[in-house]
Amino acid sequence: MRNAIRRNRRFTLSMVAGVVSCLTTSSRATGQGSGPLSYRPGIDVTDYAITLDLPQRGASIDGRAILTVRRWAPVDTLVLDLVGLRVDSVLVNEKPVTFARTDSLVRLPVERALGDSFSVTVRYAGEPKDGLIIRTDSAGRWTAFGDNWPNRARNWIPSIDHPSDKATVTWSVRAPSDRRVVANGELLEETPLPGMPGSVPRTLTRWRESRPISVYLMVIAAAPLVYYDLGRAGCGVGEFSSCVRQSVYVFPESRDFLPGPFSHAPEMVRLFSELIAPFPYEKLAHLESSTRYGGMENAGAIFYADAPFRRRTMQPGVIAHETAHQWFGDAVTEREWSHVWLSEGFATYFAALWVERFAGDSAFRDEMRRIRQEVVKAPEVASRPVIDTTQTDLMALLNTNSYQKGGWTLHMLRTLVGDSAFFRGLRSYYLANRHSTALTDDLRRAVEASSGRPLGWFFDQWLRRPGFAEVTTSWRYDASQRRVVATVTQGTRFGAYRFPLTVAITDAAGKERRATIDVPAAASTTAVVPLQLDAAPRGVAFDPDVRVLATFQAR
Ligand SMILES: [Zn+2]
Repeated sequence: MRNAIRRNRRFTLSMVAGVVSCLTTSSRATGQGSGPLSYRPGIDVTDYAITLDLPQRGASIDGRAILTVRRWAPVDTLVLDLVGLRVDSVLVNEKPVTFARTDSLVRLPVERALGDSFSVTVRYAGEPKDGLIIRTDSAGRWTAFGDNWPNRARNWIPSIDHPSDKATVTWSVRAPSDRRVVANGELLEETPLPGMPGSVPRTLTRWRESRPISVYLMVIAAAPLVYYDLGRAGCGVGEFSSCVRQSVYVFPESRDFLPGPFSHAPEMVRLFSELIAPFPYEKLAHLESSTRYGGMENAGAIFYADAPFRRRTMQPGVIAHETAHQWFGDAVTEREWSHVWLSEGFATYFAALWVERFAGDSAFRDEMRRIRQEVVKAPEVASRPVIDTTQTDLMALLNTNSYQKGGWTLHMLRTLVGDSAFFRGLRSYYLANRHSTALTDDLRRAVEASSGRPLGWFFDQWLRRPGFAEVTTSWRYDASQRRVVATVTQGTRFGAYRFPLTVAITDAAGKERRATIDVPAAASTTAVVPLQLDAAPRGVAFDPDVRVLATFQAR
């Protein structure tokens, strides 16, 4: 997601209409990932069928959740997360069981005799305190929007509410007919219900997400939204055989803002599909919502804050960020919260890659320079590593480490191994973990395989210790060798880093040439720049392409 407090930034786009490249894909759904789930060991929910009755007014909902559960270790108690709401009954394979309720958990027996696979039905009701945000807006309209990150789904969905447990989901929502209901996946039906005399007309809306997703990405919207079709420009790039259908749902007064920045949405899906793999879900809807975040990447149904719609200030950057999450975060999900950079760092960097593709190299360099400025100023970068296993406040993980420094780590990985090995590695990491979960070592191994280089040192230095490089540079011209000799000194605050450093030399004739020197993790390095010169150069610039996460000072 993107924090709402992030300042809006503008970049000018000098873009031409891209050529639609039609990839042919033959893909199939991959199953649940292997490996133990440490949050609720022995148990894996593979499907949620959730039926909700939404009220005409007030915030009280009626729910029924049918969970398909797989047991892979001998446990005889199932523990579900559910905060606050009243539980009326629990059934296992449709037979009532005696359950125990605390304010945040439902505990029920699951006898061995049930075997490895069984269903659990929870009937529940009440006013969700969080997660499903029900409010009446200033125009008097009743609205409900799911807003789950990181673990708020448990306020309205009986679930194993942890990113490691992914499942498919079917939504069946009965609501007054003047509200449009939007959710993950594919629309199955919108059917008017037989009316009761004197009551408002109601409609049953059903959506089905057939790819496993984490519970924090399972959402509905129910509000008087209007539909704007962005078309099917992503033809040939979808994981499903049809085109990627994109749309925007907004409140009526935002209608004349469209398509606005969403005119770029088809290009974004096309770019990320070409760089990584086909779009992973049935459709992609963008919604004006009441999320607390600037944007929230719910699978197939991105929810955005409503203020930028009302003020007409919404920018393409947030759309690129949330769209990139559909691949990274949604389809490949961090198995542990401490690896959330696999979601936010990727979304940050892929939004920058969109700038690179559509606004050009110089705009991309400016963007990476801007992000680097945020990294070197952030107190949490100086004090904590990106993979922060000691942080228990999940909201605190939404910081400059996970976003900007994570994105910069990908940028440096690309520089280190080159574009070809970098994108091949990312593709194989994505395809190996699609519709499943991953940890940072899965990414490391994929890029080690694509580049043929050991990369443990790289991931350790950038992700497992705080800080960044603090570099002081100097150079002299050695007339006898006819080469520049560069000296790189590193600060002691965060220790020394190892990185390739590009040096741009402007020769006496005014021509610029570049070479790269390998800087080892040492306090001071002196290296001959491998460019032969005819005379002393006019100038020497270090890191001209903005490729090292460092502060630079010339001595
Ligand atoms: Zn994000």
